[in-house]
Parts: sequence; C-alpha cells; structure tokens
Amino acid sequence: MLDRALEEQRSIFELTLDFEVNVNNNRREDVVAEMLRRANVMRDAAHRGVSGNITTQSGLVSGNAKRFYDSLDHSAALTGKLVGKAVAYSLAVAEVNASMGLIVAAPTAGSCGILPGAILALNEEVDGSDERLVNALLTASGVGLFIAERATFAAAVAGCGAEIGASASMASAAITEFCNGTAKQALDAAAISLKSYLGLACDPVAGLVEVPCIKRNAIGVANAFAAADMALNGVESAIPFAQVVDAMYSIGRRLPSELRETSKGGLAVTQTALKVRAMMGNP
Ligand code: SF4
Repeated sequence: MLDRALEEQRSIFELTLDFEVNVNNNRREDVVAEMLRRANVMRDAAHRGVSGNITTQSGLVSGNAKRFYDSLDHSAALTGKLVGKAVAYSLAVAEVNASMGLIVAAPTAGSCGILPGAILALNEEVDGSDERLVNALLTASGVGLFIAERATFAAAVAGCGAEIGASASMASAAITEFCNGTAKQALDAAAISLKSYLGLACDPVAGLVEVPCIKRNAIGVANAFAAADMALNGVESAIPFAQVVDAMYSIGRRLPSELRETSKGGLAVTQTALKVRAMMGNP
C-alpha cells in the first residue's frame, strides 16, 4: 500500500481508505464516520485533561497538562503556539489514560497522547475541517498498519520504540500529509521520527503507565512536528521507512527482558522509583 502511494503519487490517506473499502469491505462513509467518532473521543480526553481534576493512580504526575496548558495563555511556549498546544494535549490524553479515563489507543494506551496532540492542535490552529482531521487519522492508520504487519506495537516484545516510536512516526506522517506533503515526505518524516526511538527501554515506574510514559508522549509529539518540518522542507531520511521499522523490531527484541515492560530495569529501579513502589504497597 505504501509502495503504491509512492508509485502512483497518491496520498497515504487515500490508499488507506481504499484499503478499508476494497480489502476490509467497509463502506466509505462508515469508515469516515468511525474516524470522526474516534477523533471526538480524542478531543474529549484532551479537553478533559487540560481542564484538570485528573488524578492518576500514583498521583505523581497529575495536573501537569492543565498547568502547562494554562501557561500558554500568558507566556508564549518556546516551541510556539501550535506545538505548545500539541504538547499540552498529549500530556492531557496520557494523564486521562493514567486515571483510567476513556482514550483511543493510538496505537497503544501508553502512547495514546501523541496522535491526538498532533491532529487536534492542527485542527484548532491551522484548519478546522472534519475532512482534514479524518484524513490525518487515515494517514496515521496506514503507517500504523504497516508497522503492525511488519513488526509489533508490543513493548513487551520490542520495548518503547514499538509504542512511543510507532506513535511518533504515525503522527509525523499525519502532520506531513495534513500540511499537503507527499507520501514520500510523510514516510521520510515517519522514518526520521522512528529512528530516534530505536532501543528505547520500556521501564514504567511501579508498573504504571505514568512515569516516564506521560512525558514521553509530550516529547513524542514535539519530535513528530520537528520530523514533519524537516521532511516538508527537503530533508530526506537516508534509511527508508520500512528498513527503519525492521531495525526497530530487531533492536527491540534484543533488549533484555528487564527493559521490556517488566519494570525490572531502567527508570523503574531507580531509588525514587523503588520508593514509589513501596508507597503503592508493592515493595
Ligand atoms: S515506557 Fe513502556 S509502558 Fe511507558 S509508554 Fe513506553 S512502552 Fe508504554
């Protein structure tokens, strides 16, 4: 599908919609309606998160989304309003997930903040049409489908590169096509993003999807914008996207089991993490 997008000079979102209609036998209007429904779940989670009153299980990271979002009103974010809002929404959705609220796994619950941060900030700051919002989700879906078929989204198999890395690459492609980039540019952006997460440990403190997960979502969306910006302005990935996915999968599987969602290594065994575990009644 991605090869066809490149050969026929069509967008990834068009090919993904064709795939849903011709291969999965869905009606075009049903796919669009379902994407809009999911975008609305993402929007509700983002707005809930920045309005506060979120308590995560450990309580360690509650309220950061609101704190940062409110700061955008009176101090300009160094990264600008668009990326600042994307970061705030990414924190927000990840906090909602950590408080057992409703989110869209995109592609996983741990990485659920990156894609909403990207597409909702673009929708509110650049173009508010449903059509471009849905297309952005379809672009991300096409890239995600490729990663799922060729590798994995499971951090227990391939570490955090399979979650945050996959999500950031999906968001990079979505941002690129949202901004009228070609499929080639979108895949370059996806590759540039994913390369930055190869070999990343999955090391959640106390086994909770809070630390470092929530802030990794925020950094993931900022990186996604940087990768899209580069690709839209002539920077290509030296390694094609498919080969980067293969590298992510190969490196991830070679991580020791301590760094693959077991909370037995990395940040999860720092002094502070062990105190949190004890505090949670899990020594
Ligand atoms: S550290 Fe593990 S649980 Fe947290 S986002 Fe990364 S892969 Fe998911």
